[in-house]
Amino acid sequence: MEVPLMDLKAEYQDLRPQMLEAMDQALSSMQLFLGPNVQALEQEFAQFCEVQHAIGCGSGTDACQLALEAAGVGPGDEVITVGWTFIATIAAIVHLGAQPVLVDIEPTHFNMDPALVEPAITSKTRAIMPVHIYGYPADMGALQKIADKHGLLVIEDACQAHGATLEGKRVGGLGAAAAFSFYLSKALGCYGEGGMITTNDAGLAERVRLLRNHGYTGKYDHGTIGYNSRLDEVQAAVLRVKLARIEDSLARRRHQAELYRERLNGTPLFVPPEEPGYRHCFYMFHVRAPQRDELVTYLQERGISTAQHYVHPVHQQPAVARYGLAECHLPVTEHASQEILILPCHPYLSDEQILYVAEQVREFYGV
Ligand SMILES: *Cc1c(COP(=O)(O)O)cnc(C)c1O
Repeated sequence: MEVPLMDLKAEYQDLRPQMLEAMDQALSSMQLFLGPNVQALEQEFAQFCEVQHAIGCGSGTDACQLALEAAGVGPGDEVITVGWTFIATIAAIVHLGAQPVLVDIEPTHFNMDPALVEPAITSKTRAIMPVHIYGYPADMGALQKIADKHGLLVIEDACQAHGATLEGKRVGGLGAAAAFSFYLSKALGCYGEGGMITTNDAGLAERVRLLRNHGYTGKYDHGTIGYNSRLDEVQAAVLRVKLARIEDSLARRRHQAELYRERLNGTPLFVPPEEPGYRHCFYMFHVRAPQRDELVTYLQERGISTAQHYVHPVHQQPAVARYGLAECHLPVTEHASQEILILPCHPYLSDEQILYVAEQVREFYGV
């Protein structure tokens, strides 16, 4: 049996009539940027995240950068984040002339370890940027407490966490602002590039609106130097079709995660528990696997695709050496890269496929 990590083709075939209609309507209007679909999506996404403001932009990377810049992060500032993330989190900080300060993760969910944040604060620290990795919320309560004590802002990198909740509140509204990505593989993805910033701060929202479109304050007038980071109408139309069904798709992911949890019980795999108050969105189903590399090959030979985000953590990437990050001591992060394994989990995979994966894992370990 073939089990891809995700089945985006099956999703497209299922949604094709609505997608073609939505895209045709957007193209026929020839109003292709920041038009009615973007406005409607912003409202719908704000509602989904239970926030006051949502502002579309060009990508998740841009969303991180615009959120930080609108929050006042600039040259010489320090932003505390993690090494266990996609490089875009670090790039957003560096592009603003700020310095990323990396702290280690906790070993269960691989999120920022709040106990390590306070010692990393200096007089230059401006913001804390946790990443809700794989769709499991970071400990925002503890992080906000530290931020409040030191007068810092918490900006969520929620690029992997559409729909996750903490104490009944959706991510996106848990800090001063949040960044989402609509890259096609994400739990809400478009067919090009797209991103969104969410916030309950009207001033911050206004600054993001200016920044994303060259600081346009009116026809021919520019209030600030900004960026070309406009969300386009075709992507917004595509996203609206998917957002209308997202609760079903989140429920499918949850169901698959429960199947895995049940069937992988008793194997040497460590499946992170969902702690009270935390609701995973299962953008990715991650486990820690002893003999990981042998298991990956074994599954591959049986038609099962897996992933290992992140094989080389950010601080070990040649790209960041010049920012002084190579000297970071992040033992939990480094250990995570040895054991991390992402198993297929996607609304368009069948129960049979999930059960087959679990069965092959059991066979590999002989349990
Ligand atoms: C995907 C991702 C981004 C960047 O999003 P793009 O839309 O690809 O620019 C940033 N941070 C994290 C944690 C991501 O997973």
